[in-house]
Amino acid sequence: TQAPVNVTVTGAAGQIGYALLFRIASGQLLGQDTPVKLRLLEIPQAVKAAEGTALELEDCAFPLLAGVDIFDDAKKAFEGANVGLLVGARPRAKGMERGDLLEANGGIFKPQGEAINAGAADDVKVLVVGNPANTNALIAQAHAPDVPKERFTAMTRLDHNRAAAQLATKLGVGVADIKKLTIWGNHSATQYPDIFHAEVDGKNAAEAVGDQKWLEDEFIPRVAKRGAEIIEARGASSAASAANAAIDHVYDWVNGTAEGDWVSMGIPSDGSYGVPEGIISSFPVTTKNGKYEIVQGLEIDEFSRGKIDASVQELTDERDTVKQLGLI
Ligand code: NDP
Repeated sequence: TQAPVNVTVTGAAGQIGYALLFRIASGQLLGQDTPVKLRLLEIPQAVKAAEGTALELEDCAFPLLAGVDIFDDAKKAFEGANVGLLVGARPRAKGMERGDLLEANGGIFKPQGEAINAGAADDVKVLVVGNPANTNALIAQAHAPDVPKERFTAMTRLDHNRAAAQLATKLGVGVADIKKLTIWGNHSATQYPDIFHAEVDGKNAAEAVGDQKWLEDEFIPRVAKRGAEIIEARGASSAASAANAAIDHVYDWVNGTAEGDWVSMGIPSDGSYGVPEGIISSFPVTTKNGKYEIVQGLEIDEFSRGKIDASVQELTDERDTVKQLGLI
């Protein structure tokens, strides 16, 4: 049988962590043939809660779970990591300036990048979930010079899945009938969910919708602000759907995308579609053999261009801020 894959999860005792760990341990992250060893990182105050979760994991008797170790030291937590899920982050507090938020997260993602550089496995794949995810990924990447840059990714899959669900509802079809949706840019309110290349039952989705007003006034803002809608309804931020998206992101990265479809991932730009090289921005990607590739050759009309540029502008601003703060 295969040797266990080491999966390091930070912020493991948080809400998303609680929704994520059981699914990883049951084989949904890497597949039903792959045993996993969980390495949980928490801040010292939350280690006890993580230990409680570890007891529950034990009680599930998951056949694929080869062990759970808990750490409050990033260097140890990332030792041998094949997959790193960076969930723990400094939440936005009232009255906090964006620069303060980025600085606080620099204090988390810089040492984690260093720890990945020092001890992770050669094949390590990193997904940053903790917000501001794209720029946190950029910070971690900057402190892991020996790890190939493309191994640092940020999560826009929840936005992608939200867009698929909204579009399917609008068109009265199942989500499985929707293909080739794209989230461009930042995982923030400026993100651009693009349906102009999407297909429903093989037909162009934008034409099937045929309603630019719905697109501009309902669909795009609803997807972009869905997080706030969940908080309003639930009294707490989305956790299970965020964990689900993290599972989807890594599963597809490792196992490949389906023929005739693609997914959205926040990845280091190679300059495609006029997105400045180096920033971590969301693109349409296909994956195969553990590697992703940006889908090339899509025509971007003026409307889409404006939306992509606005989100990319926010990302370059964030990059400039963390550069000024000496975080990258
Ligand atoms: P959650 O588990 O709910 O969220 C964790 C992070 O995920 C936040 O940054 C949150 O961003 C982000 N996130 C990204 N996408 C989404 C989404 N769609 N919906 C909701 N959140 C999303 O936070 P908790 O406070 O419950 O738990 C965080 C844990 O992390 C705590 O246990 C804390 O101790 C730990 N922590 C660990 C660190 C470490 O391991 N070194 C460092 C810092 C914290 P947003 O704030 O924008 O919602």
